[in-house]
Amino acid sequence: MLLSADQFASLTRLVGAAHVRTGADLAALDPGIDPHNYRADVLLQPGSTAEVAAVLAYCNRHRIAVVPHGGRTGLSGGAATVAGQVALSLARLNQIDSFDARSRVAIVGAGVTLGALAARAALDGLAPGIDLGARDSATVGGMVSTNAGGVAAFRHGTMRERVLGLEAVLADGRVLGELGQVRKRNEGLAVERLLIGAEGTLGVITRVALALVPADGPVATALVALDGLEAAAALCDRAQAVPAATPTAIEVMSGNHAAAVCRALALDDFASLAAAPYLVLLELSSASAAAAEAALVDLLGAAVEGGLVLDAAVAQNESQRHTMWRVREDWAIDRERPGGLWYDISVPLSLLPAYVAELRDRLARHDPALGLVLIGHLADGNLHVTVNAATPITPRYEEIAPLVTDGLAAVGGSFSAEHGIGLEKKATLARLAGAPKQDLMRGLKALYDPRGILNPGKVIPG
Ligand SMILES: Cc1cc2nc3c(=O)[nH]c(=O)nc-3n(C[C@H](O)[C@H](O)[C@H](O)COP(=O)(O)OP(=O)(O)OC[C@H]3O[C@@H](n4cnc5c(N)ncnc54)[C@H](O)[C@@H]3O)c2cc1C
Repeated sequence: MLLSADQFASLTRLVGAAHVRTGADLAALDPGIDPHNYRADVLLQPGSTAEVAAVLAYCNRHRIAVVPHGGRTGLSGGAATVAGQVALSLARLNQIDSFDARSRVAIVGAGVTLGALAARAALDGLAPGIDLGARDSATVGGMVSTNAGGVAAFRHGTMRERVLGLEAVLADGRVLGELGQVRKRNEGLAVERLLIGAEGTLGVITRVALALVPADGPVATALVALDGLEAAAALCDRAQAVPAATPTAIEVMSGNHAAAVCRALALDDFASLAAAPYLVLLELSSASAAAAEAALVDLLGAAVEGGLVLDAAVAQNESQRHTMWRVREDWAIDRERPGGLWYDISVPLSLLPAYVAELRDRLARHDPALGLVLIGHLADGNLHVTVNAATPITPRYEEIAPLVTDGLAAVGGSFSAEHGIGLEKKATLARLAGAPKQDLMRGLKALYDPRGILNPGKVIPG
């Protein structure tokens, strides 16, 4: 433990002994996705913005590193800690402070989970306008900090588009209060917006004003088998042109992903669909369940007849719909072939088929033993690319990264679509971001956090 006894006692006084975890007590907690999340000396759980401010002011004076924590579902190592650091959990800031249904705005604590916000919004026929698999653990603060995307981004944007205003504590403990609740707000430089996607390196977000959207009507869901990504992109076009229904999810996966899930979960009903090269999970919403299903059946019927689609199954009840989502969201392939590498890219949809063809080619030329598994948010051209092999290849991340990411910028894509930079993509950012951007990132870090106490070593190029 690298914090001194004095420092430990002072920090304990600031949040109360009941809200401090350390030693075996800390080690016994579930660290979340990244096993390094609780390697810190201590976990502090402040209960208010004032307590967060007091902790940061103290840590800044004593040059103690602070790593903000939300639901610990992040996939890029942004919440990882090392000895000598303080993990600062925002979990107790879990109140919905205000809810204005007419203005469609909620002000929520950073520790509110997406699931809790969605449940509250549903009472007024509203929704957060964003959804992702980790909805019951991911927090608003973490989602703002990673600029999360998810299933609905093609309709409502990423978290950046959902945030109207925010309150954050700066490194020195001052509170930046920019909790505007309106879209139209031009008051000089939008200094608070730099915290969106900053992964806790510029300030600790304590409260957020979020724009809400009308909740979708009943949905109909299908799992669709396709022979390639050209066909998937064409289906995506058609789904967005259906009259009287709105697509609420257009998720793509390679057949080997779906087949692994069907094997692992014994989903024999979907095994023949999963034998196709690609599958799309398509969900349409309409005024009634019957109207949604009719629109979906019409769309798929025409697509099968026209040869665009190989086969499709429409969910007949909630349980089948749930199973279809498991086919998309389960990570069986990582259990079957552990130690694979995850990349997270986006590319304009029209270029996606060519990108994947080129990627397959590059991987095969580099090492024919490498396997490729794809899942993603099709309408956004966003793919989570898993490269794996019969045995773990974890140490080969940097070797393989250029095969996946190089050339994306030239076609307007991104090497980091939605999970942030954290630790995992730092080298890729240093390789691909231009010098002006890297200089500005370093300059802004020095301005917002002169002593470098906030999530040191993450995101910002060295
Ligand atoms: C099953 C699953 C599905 C997922 N699907 C998606 C998806 O579709 N789209 C997507 O974008 N992501 C997805 N993710 C990734 C993850 O859920 C998001 O990155 C989420 O935004 C992280 O929120 P969190 O509260 O868990 O943050 P954490 O993991 O706790 O933290 C993430 C980063 O934000 C920082 N941070 C956390 N809270 C604050 C705060 N209050 N102030 C400042 N910094 C803070 C941390 O230091 C860290 O750098 C998925 C993850 C899982 C496990």
